[in-house]
Amino acid sequence: MSFNPEQFIKTRGPWHFIPDWDDLVDPDFDFKTETQYNKGWEKQSYAHELISPPPYDGILVSKVVEEKSVARRKRIRALGVKGALRVPQDFPVLGDCGAFGYIDEKIPPYSSADVFDYYTAGGFDFGVSVDHLIPSPEFSDREFRLKITIENAAEFIKIHTREKPRWIAVGAVQGWNTESYGECAAKLVKMGYTYLAVGGLVRTKNDEVRKIVSEVRKAAPLVPLHLFGVARPQLFDLFPDYGVFSVDSASALRRAWMGSTDNYHTSDGSYCAVRVPSPGGRGPLKNLAGSELSSATKLESKVLDELMKYGEYKSDISTLENLLEEYEGLYVQKGKSRLEGYLKTLKDRPWEKCMCPICKSSGIQTLIFRGNNRNRRRGFHNTWVLQQKFIAMREKYANQEN
Ligand SMILES: [Zn+2]
Repeated sequence: MSFNPEQFIKTRGPWHFIPDWDDLVDPDFDFKTETQYNKGWEKQSYAHELISPPPYDGILVSKVVEEKSVARRKRIRALGVKGALRVPQDFPVLGDCGAFGYIDEKIPPYSSADVFDYYTAGGFDFGVSVDHLIPSPEFSDREFRLKITIENAAEFIKIHTREKPRWIAVGAVQGWNTESYGECAAKLVKMGYTYLAVGGLVRTKNDEVRKIVSEVRKAAPLVPLHLFGVARPQLFDLFPDYGVFSVDSASALRRAWMGSTDNYHTSDGSYCAVRVPSPGGRGPLKNLAGSELSSATKLESKVLDELMKYGEYKSDISTLENLLEEYEGLYVQKGKSRLEGYLKTLKDRPWEKCMCPICKSSGIQTLIFRGNNRNRRRGFHNTWVLQQKFIAMREKYANQEN
């Protein structure tokens, strides 16, 4: 089925996009023997291949990210962006340049014409104009950067109007305070943009995001808005009120392995994943050698076995507590123990309450902080939880309207 971007931007939203960072897992990974059977893009799976329906409504693909890998660049060229992501033709894909990737450059490394050709050749549905981030309100070059963003937007829509591709041009809005964001949005609407994407909000506090979006909304009352990087549940009330059409964020995914304790999300909170780092592998036990390494390895397999048994109700919490305490003793400094969090996770058994396909098939393994196959699966679970929040938000506002 082909996708009609014109129709899509007339829908209500708010739609949840995930930025593509090549987040793949081995679908056949054996947790018991720790065996990875499948390596590489061809054989590994994206979240949308393990979870149906997909745990997001669309994907954001940044040129800067794609260009980090020759293989990915080639794939997009050969298969189109949807072939490279292995999504159906009717699954929305938004392209941008990934301004965070060239934040330290004087000017963006891409011209509007290059980026226009890239979106067309890749079969994107939406393409964002070439913008330049303003790192802070005090940044000395802020006026210059805003000028670049606005000039690029003007050039981009000129090419788009002339060439008439099937994809929709999205105007990138930047600024350093509410007024500058509002002015930028007003100019872009005047140029003829029918979809705007507001950038530079990732490090902005919620209150400030509200003010900026409100100002952009005033300047562009009728245009669907995308907000880059701020799919935060704390801002959900803002989305329908200000007509936010789409948002993206990878933070739910990434907290799975980058968060200190909030690694596994639920509808109303989070849990700490149980860390079992590999002795000798990457991580805190990487420097072990000799007898220290072999005794740590023995303890490691005991911990993993016991966790698996606990998941199957074949072990008790006190055995596990002693083992985890002993294992933490190998690498955790005094006062930094996460044991309390681990015990809460284990006692509450959140993997049993979750309806997502990851928890259903991987069970307690989803809660073990260890290696890509467990950590990314937990990230997929978090993304699914966030998607449920989007679905609930859309239903709530649809009901209020009726
Ligand atoms: Zn789950």
